[in-house]
Amino acid sequence: MGGQRWFYRDDHEWLTLAQQLKQIPCPHCKAVGTLNRHGCLYGFKGQRKTLRARRVFCSNRQARPGCGRTFSVWLADKIRRLSITTDALSRFLQLALAAGILAASRDIKGQRSERTWQRIWQRFHLAQSKIRTALLGRCPPPQSLPRPPTNPKYQAAAHVLAHLQAAFPDAHCPLTDFQLTLRDFFI
Ligand SMILES: [Zn+2]
Repeated sequence: MGGQRWFYRDDHEWLTLAQQLKQIPCPHCKAVGTLNRHGCLYGFKGQRKTLRARRVFCSNRQARPGCGRTFSVWLADKIRRLSITTDALSRFLQLALAAGILAASRDIKGQRSERTWQRIWQRFHLAQSKIRTALLGRCPPPQSLPRPPTNPKYQAAAHVLAHLQAAFPDAHCPLTDFQLTLRDFFI
């Protein structure tokens, strides 16, 4: 799919996209007129079933010229393979910068263990250079940090988050807008 992911913000955006599917080329085989809605992808948060993505099928049935593959159109506030939202991740990262990962994982409500938050931080850490490169396509990084992190080891992370904020200054959640606009998962 050329590395690009598809995202949508809300039902309205999905319905608009769904109505245009027949005019959009398949991201795999580039055929036009073959894409069809193909159900939903759900995740579980405890007992609660939550919608994560819509599935789209490139039809090769009844001699249609599609490739028969499916792909997901993700809700932009979801994080891949995690049941937290972009909002929660954003809060966690900000707290971690201010008070450390341990304090942040205790502060954030939810039933995730400190180990899980450690792993999430690790994922963010590994994604930083990819995030920086993607953000550079929108704006240069800010010259200085709004406030330096308490612990110097979070310096690089603080710069990435400040850059994210600068790239989407008016966003309710810059992480969501990152995914929607840059068409890639944040982490
Ligand atoms: Zn296709």
